[in-house]
Amino acid sequence: MTQTFDALRLLVVEDHQFQRMVAVKVMTGLGVASVQEAEDGQDALDKIAASTDPIDITICDLDMPGMDGIEFIRHVAEKKLTSAIVVASAMEPELIRTVEDMAAEHGMKVLGTLEKPINPEKVKTLFEQFLSEQAAAGSGSGSSELVITKDMLITAIQDGQIIPWFQPKVLISNGQWVSCEALARWQHPEKGMIYPGQFINEVETFGLMDEMTESIISRSIEQIKQWQSEGRLINTSVNISPSMLGNIQLPEKLMQMIKAVGIGPELLTLEITESAVMENVAHCLSTLARLKMKGFTLSIDDFGTGYSSMQQLNRIPFSELKIDQSFVKDAVSDPTRRAIVEANIELARKLKLKTVAEGLESAADWQLLNELQCDVAQGYFVGKPMPADQFSDWEAEWKQTYSSLSSNTSDQDET
Ligand code: C2E
Ligand code: MG
Ligand code: MG
Repeated sequence: MTQTFDALRLLVVEDHQFQRMVAVKVMTGLGVASVQEAEDGQDALDKIAASTDPIDITICDLDMPGMDGIEFIRHVAEKKLTSAIVVASAMEPELIRTVEDMAAEHGMKVLGTLEKPINPEKVKTLFEQFLSEQAAAGSGSGSSELVITKDMLITAIQDGQIIPWFQPKVLISNGQWVSCEALARWQHPEKGMIYPGQFINEVETFGLMDEMTESIISRSIEQIKQWQSEGRLINTSVNISPSMLGNIQLPEKLMQMIKAVGIGPELLTLEITESAVMENVAHCLSTLARLKMKGFTLSIDDFGTGYSSMQQLNRIPFSELKIDQSFVKDAVSDPTRRAIVEANIELARKLKLKTVAEGLESAADWQLLNELQCDVAQGYFVGKPMPADQFSDWEAEWKQTYSSLSSNTSDQDET
């Protein structure tokens, strides 16, 4: 699908007149109608203040006379003056990462970085990423804020509007599809598709997590059974909210559910985020131990974003560790993130845990994770979350992608 960028509002902050002209030309060439220019940080702040419409993306150089890019980004991030920032700079990656962290501390996302001269294809990819993240967050340009009430959610759960989509996971060693993750999607009859980022917190706040999860799990189990009847054993993960781990009935309840459908516990994985478990280890431990005892697989989600000690990790009977996508995403170009991914894989190997890398988006990500001997891959590069009935088309497509990957690798080996 070709996306149009005409509704985007941009600001290019660059002291070098020629570079600025090139950047503006690239943006207008991609169809963006509103591109403002500024020659340093102060000029940019003035332009933002004078602008009648909010700026979506600010493309910013770091090294500028007057107010430099770092100072400018701090101002922008603190006051949320723009939705996203793209850093266009020749500075070393470590410095750019520090700037990203600084912006993130203030809740501002650095969409990506651009080398100079600016490459239109890279810009296009960043804009597409921006628009899809906006759509996923439901706060795209011009869209109205979604207010979710408890009654809306009760109806949605009762009427089966919240269903799982499935994202495939494949073995890195041979590309084989072995498992998937069930991710909640709310198909609202009037508002269209609503993503978890927009409603999971509300489900939790309104005390409806048990009901929603039960519905997701029950549909996922039906799907596992369907795959099983087609001769495929696809282990499926569901996300378990921390609040549910206090429920001592959970292991028994899950057992009843799988027995009723006729699948074994080894086909169901329960994902629990690292931060959720670490917040209350003692509280979760007995439920986790009983789930494990009954034969379910336990997976530690978003690993690296919480603070677990080796000792805590050892006490909890996890079998799988999912490396958070924030580390995987730029590991190819950022030596620090690569080192973190590498260390996580090493740690998992020592603790005899299977590793799943989340958020692989390119062939280069795949090659790196292959090199680092990660076990399983999950990411847009392999496949996006989708309704179960799209899996046969996806698998055919993935087989082609994988075979071209392997032939590229053997070409390289021969040279
Ligand atoms: P998660 O469990 O870490 O799920 C992975 C998220 O990363 C999914 O977002 C998935 O669509 C996205 N993702 C996968 N590969 C890529 C990639 O290559 N690039 C990018 N940019 N993103 C990728 P989604 O579906 O929006 O879910 C977000 C979070 O919402 C999940 O994070 C999970 O914490 C929560 N969630 C989703 N479904 C449920 C549910 O049924 N119950 C509970 N309690 N939480 C859920
Ligand atoms: Mg998950
Ligand atoms: Mg995750």
